[in-house]
Amino acid sequence: MGIAFADNLTRFVFERAAVRGAVVSLDAAYRDILACHPYPPGLQRLIGETLAAVCLLADSLKFEGSLILQLHGSRTLRLLVVEASAALELRATAQWDGEIGEHAQLCDLAGNGGESRMVLTLDPKDGGPLYQGVVALEGGSVAALFEHYLATSEQIDSRLWLSADDRRVRGLLVQRMPASGEADTGPWRRAARAAATASAVFETSDAHAALESLFPTDDVRAFRPRMPRFGCSCSRERVAAALKLLGSTEVESILAERGGIGVNCEFCNRRYELDAAEARNLFAAPPAAVLH
Ligand SMILES: [Zn+2]
Repeated sequence: MGIAFADNLTRFVFERAAVRGAVVSLDAAYRDILACHPYPPGLQRLIGETLAAVCLLADSLKFEGSLILQLHGSRTLRLLVVEASAALELRATAQWDGEIGEHAQLCDLAGNGGESRMVLTLDPKDGGPLYQGVVALEGGSVAALFEHYLATSEQIDSRLWLSADDRRVRGLLVQRMPASGEADTGPWRRAARAAATASAVFETSDAHAALESLFPTDDVRAFRPRMPRFGCSCSRERVAAALKLLGSTEVESILAERGGIGVNCEFCNRRYELDAAEARNLFAAPPAAVLH
């Protein structure tokens, strides 16, 4: 029995070469994210490919916080944010302005150079320092952008294949490990070739079958699969904290206009409502200590 190839991320290593990688499949997780907002089909595909890439990257980092990717575009696509937690909970949101063609590539939507850039943030979530990397939007596709990032920022030779439609996303990452030598060149070439022609194998029903058809002549060891899913970390407490940052003057002016405050989470679109008393209470002085 294989492992059903839906909402699955399976990491693997070559037994006899310094080559590693992972295959990812997003099904319900992807559809749940798309259900939050009415994205045009061309943007759905771009979100899907970016979700798969961020998921593969988050898994390879062995990091206990969140990985946050922001694409700042200078054309139709203004902003795309994709986040993955250490538990592979995924969420996404986008801002765009104008028509998006069904087969548009990242470079068509976001532009190259100038204001266009990718910002990757590692948020340890424990109050520790953020790590942030910024790269220009190079390459025409999401896969090319991540390959460029991995080669320049992480110094790891990587090949990435990504595919998304309106129902599901598939991805394959292969990497030549830094310790690899001359003997690994053959296996690495085979792995890179597999990444270039991966489409067909993703019709298989499970991750192990996909790995067997991707690498028919290499011994490949698959790790225990992980299950990416949609998850949003928004909460009433976070909305309250954001309103506190906004300040009491601003909050009072919203109350004067609307009588209450409604905030929609930009990721999952969940709505949080505070009435005037609840909103004012955010700025009330803490209660005095009770003396016994
Ligand atoms: Zn949310």
